[in-house]
Amino acid sequence: MASLTFHGAAREVTGSCHLLECEGVQVLLDCGLFQGPPDVERQNERPFPFAPQALAAVVLSHAHLDHSGLLPKLVREGFRGPIFVTAPTRDLLEILLADAAHLEARDAEWENRKRERAGRKPRPPLYTVADVAPTLARTVSKAYGERFAVAAGVEACFRDAGHILGSSIVELWVHTPKGVRHVVFSGDLGNRSTPMLRDPELIRGADVLLLESTYGDHDHRSMQETLAEFGQILDAAAASGGNVVIPSFAIGRAQEIMYRLGELFQAGRLRQQRVFLDSPMAIKATEVYEKYVQLFDTDSRHALRRNGGDAQGFLPVLQYTHTPEESMAINRIAGGAIIIAGSGMCSGGRVRHHLKWNLWRAAAHIVIVGFQAQGTPGRKLVDGARKLRLLGEDIAVKASVHTLGGFSAHAGQTALVDWAGKFRKPQPRVYLVHGEPEAMRTLKSRLKAVHGFEAQIPAPGQVIRL
Ligand code: ZN
Repeated sequence: MASLTFHGAAREVTGSCHLLECEGVQVLLDCGLFQGPPDVERQNERPFPFAPQALAAVVLSHAHLDHSGLLPKLVREGFRGPIFVTAPTRDLLEILLADAAHLEARDAEWENRKRERAGRKPRPPLYTVADVAPTLARTVSKAYGERFAVAAGVEACFRDAGHILGSSIVELWVHTPKGVRHVVFSGDLGNRSTPMLRDPELIRGADVLLLESTYGDHDHRSMQETLAEFGQILDAAAASGGNVVIPSFAIGRAQEIMYRLGELFQAGRLRQQRVFLDSPMAIKATEVYEKYVQLFDTDSRHALRRNGGDAQGFLPVLQYTHTPEESMAINRIAGGAIIIAGSGMCSGGRVRHHLKWNLWRAAAHIVIVGFQAQGTPGRKLVDGARKLRLLGEDIAVKASVHTLGGFSAHAGQTALVDWAGKFRKPQPRVYLVHGEPEAMRTLKSRLKAVHGFEAQIPAPGQVIRL
């Protein structure tokens, strides 16, 4: 008998984790961190609902922490098998897991000081920096399109998902006593408008399809409109003489923004003479992107190769700021610069300093290019706050704040429905994962209306037979 159990990203967006079992062999698809409000994040502290030492292998769709962030905990608790990844995923994982371990140590320390004062016993961190190297040592890289043995009776193949560098759709062949079952896990499907990355590969058939549904309820604004507005904002900032501050996630979005600025520069339309990437993590991630230019889509690869082959060749006004001193020097620039810095939701990192030095200036422009969760400083800016508490100080918001909704690393509703529609008859059994319940319900009815699919929305812990 073969089965699949949905242990995470079931009726929610984070904590992606699905357990495949066949004839006593257990394989895990993703091992993601639950991210969000405290009640969601508490799920990270629960014991795994399976024995880590009993797993034969892990197959990882991509490096984002909501898919990979509990791997060090899995290894710490006894997992000793291979973790199958693509080579870029391995490189990005190194950056992301190290950062996650640092943040986890900091959070645990803060919480434990509080617990100590309240007379409660401390909470051990989920894992520490020391758990990251043994986790990375278990990774085994496979190329896109290469069919490989995962464990006895299970084979897999990574297909490009076009979501972030190295991201994959995972195809699995499960050899059951009743025959081979072809299972496709979409992972996170990319947005076809994202530069550098290729479009998600089309898969033509499966018995079972696990489909992500992050944006199952709407489409993104068109990239053309988004880029036109971005250009107008940069022009307005150049005219007013202020800086442009772009809070950005370090992996994916930062590289996309630099690429778009590079396109403007190459077209002679970028008036700003200085662009700073002020994030050591984003600089490292950019180096990983540049290492894998051969995996880029044709247009971006040619554009980069014609112009020096890297971000600074494509965008010669780009400067990387590695040290805190270099970062602080940017504070003395009153106008004419574009500053890309983390964190993406302004809740930590160097961008807080840049906001502190620019928010109160009427000539400055703040461009929000990513999702802002409830309660974060970034969300307050989007919602029109007149002042913002940053680094212990109240800062007046006089700058123009712009929200550009069109940049997204995920396929929108129409793209999800189109991608699923490429599966030929007989129709796969479809299970929706990785989405809020509302988005899942909307996607379910679209799939029914357009393709006649009867998609299921599995509950956490639900088991299906293959
Ligand atoms: Zn992702």
